[in-house]
Amino acid sequence: MSETEVSLKTAALRGLLGRCPHCGQGKLMQGYLKQVEACSVCGEKFGHIRADDAAPWGTIIVVGHVFLPFAFMVDVDWMPVWAAMTMWSACFALLSLAILPRSKSLFLGILWQTKAPGYKQVEIVKSA
Ligand SMILES: [Zn+2]
Repeated sequence: MSETEVSLKTAALRGLLGRCPHCGQGKLMQGYLKQVEACSVCGEKFGHIRADDAAPWGTIIVVGHVFLPFAFMVDVDWMPVWAAMTMWSACFALLSLAILPRSKSLFLGILWQTKAPGYKQVEIVKSA
């Protein structure tokens, strides 16, 4: 497989859309946060890639730094405090749950393109 033919931008965009970063056709995720072992269309392997805490980190950045400021612009003074707190908690929990798998697939696309799978390659360990 020639990963270098796909640009970082394309791989990241395909990952964000949940598609195989290599061919852009097959699915990248098989569960909520589990990636496929290999693409069903082109056969590129993804099961070995470890995104670790990049996905929650990306989710926190987007939810906490992009969406949270908008919450301060919404006037909820007419609501009881308990209702406003419940509403915002539910809103941001759902937003986080929606963004987390997209964040993971985005980072999988980036990690695949940059050949940084998140583990020490066996060949390197053996030669050391
Ligand atoms: Zn593919």
